[in-house]
Amino acid sequence: MIQINQLVKKYSSRQGTIIAIDNVSLNILQGAIYGIIGLSGAGKSTLVRCLNLLEKPTSGQVVVAGQDLTKLSNRELRQARQNIGMIFQHFYLLQSRTVAENIAFPLEIAGVPKKEISIRVKELLHLVGLEDKSSAYPAQLSGGQKQRVGIARALATKPQVLLCDEATSALDPQTTLSILNLLRDINQKLGLTIVMITHEMKVVKEICTDVAVIHEARIVENGPVESVFIKP
Ligand code: ADP
Ligand code: ADP
Repeated sequence: MIQINQLVKKYSSRQGTIIAIDNVSLNILQGAIYGIIGLSGAGKSTLVRCLNLLEKPTSGQVVVAGQDLTKLSNRELRQARQNIGMIFQHFYLLQSRTVAENIAFPLEIAGVPKKEISIRVKELLHLVGLEDKSSAYPAQLSGGQKQRVGIARALATKPQVLLCDEATSALDPQTTLSILNLLRDINQKLGLTIVMITHEMKVVKEICTDVAVIHEARIVENGPVESVFIKP
């Protein structure tokens, strides 16, 4: 589903050039829950942002569902991004919009007719278990509920890939488990491929099928979780 080939990302700053991703290649199969784990500053955020071209790679290829994203025009890229949902540590919900309106937002941008949007939003509220919160505002929700809205919004355009940037790092352990269980359900129900960056080993052990360890901009180890980490 995702092939990353010899990806390099450099940032220029006054201090000089930082190599945030140094020649990384990865192959992520359809239906995987692929964890990318590493310390702060290792390059996780940069890597996951290269997967939907929120960051433009310096060189290399990012192939998602057969399309090399680095070769697309802006218009083609907007289209391709509908196939790649993303959720964030701090949720990034629109505070002035209700839960239902937040979930509808990507559909409005995609030009989906109002009637279809309303049907789709109902399905999504049901999927994430927030039917009773549709008219609430983000400020009225718990962290776990906010992330459920984030997940529903990310899935609105029916993507095949969901990118998770430290999606549970702002949540307590109990809520983390409930969000991970929801992501696992969605992975199984919809066959969605999930890429999850985290600094927490317990997240990887809880739900990932595969894992890559990133250290100082390079992948130092990767494979099925049980072969990379010896079970206790
Ligand atoms: P992680 O997500 O693992 O904490 P990041 O991808 O955020 O790592 O950062 C990797 C390296 O790239 C760090 O040294 C960070 O300071 C640097 N970096 C990240 N984003 C930028 C940016 N926009 N400009 C300059 N340097 C950046
Ligand atoms: P996170 O909580 O995801 O690790 P950060 O605080 O590391 O977030 O980064 C927030 C934003 O700042 C990101 O968009 C990242 O690319 C950017 N960033 C990170 N490090 C640097 C840096 N050294 N210089 C400029 N921008 C950076």
